[in-house]
Amino acid sequence: MTGAAQGGARCGSRVWSVVCAALAATLGAVAAAQHAPPRIVATERIETTAASAPYRLRLALFTPAGGPWQAATIAAATREAAAILAQCGIGLEPATLYTYDGDARFRDYFTPWSRALVAGLAPEKPAVFFVAATRNRPAFDAEAVGRGNSRTRPELADTVWVAWGTRDLPVALAHEIAHVLADSGEHSAAAGNLMNEQTAPGATRLDREQCARMVATGAANGLLSR
Ligand SMILES: [Zn+2]
Repeated sequence: MTGAAQGGARCGSRVWSVVCAALAATLGAVAAAQHAPPRIVATERIETTAASAPYRLRLALFTPAGGPWQAATIAAATREAAAILAQCGIGLEPATLYTYDGDARFRDYFTPWSRALVAGLAPEKPAVFFVAATRNRPAFDAEAVGRGNSRTRPELADTVWVAWGTRDLPVALAHEIAHVLADSGEHSAAAGNLMNEQTAPGATRLDREQCARMVATGAANGLLSR
């Protein structure tokens, strides 16, 4: 984990890209038809310690077979992200990490391919994909797709995409999950806030209004249970 503001992960949630969405809508069906369907080749349970939180989050985690992500890295980042979200009364239930195989294109995040990937896997949501790279442009380290920005790519609703090498990994992961739960691309300029546009180590605070929106919207959308 390195870097100050300028080294932080750039978040793509604010970019509700009309161009990319249109491209995805055009190519998505083609991609789905062309690629061998993905299949799960391994599962691993990630234990957590969130017994008594008022709101409970269950994440489905995915990564391609053959790396570059290692299960231990994903597990550690997920636990650290959960510790950040705990300030809003959100507890992470034991998560499952699924390793998938299939067309090599599924290793990267690219809207038309990723639509086919998610359609093939039919994951529980929210789902987090730890992928090799992003091929979307602009290229963000990590990106969240909520309900409000998924109309033209409905398969991707309630998903998070994290590219290998994402800086401030646990912070970036918590940041993107917060976007999904709140179904909002909003950022905060407040010092130390998790929702700063540029992530930074130690910038993990969420204010009362942010927490309120996350739990209300997340629960209403069926992403949190009580
Ligand atoms: Zn963001």
